[in-house]
Amino acid sequence: MPRYNYKCNQCDLEMELVHSMSEVATDCIKCDTKNSLKKQLSIPRIDSKTKAPKNVGGAVKESIEEYKQRVDSERGIWEDFDIEEILKENIK
Ligand SMILES: [Zn+2]
Repeated sequence: MPRYNYKCNQCDLEMELVHSMSEVATDCIKCDTKNSLKKQLSIPRIDSKTKAPKNVGGAVKESIEEYKQRVDSERGIWEDFDIEEILKENIK
């Protein structure tokens, strides 16, 4: 199951939740506020301790695949930003 980082905009708690890609967490586990969680973009961690050296290549590949899926599933976050405006600002 993929891990997702969330931040509560009510109590500022940052948490890591595990759920399937089709689900989304909305309620804070600490302050219980409904719809207070915002998904954070995050780089996947590669846990080298739990992988045997011969599997490192496979682990990296898995992580890259997982990261791609997460970027796809988290693309909605970027709707908050006006990409064209940001680009214009940078081209000036
Ligand atoms: Zn909270």
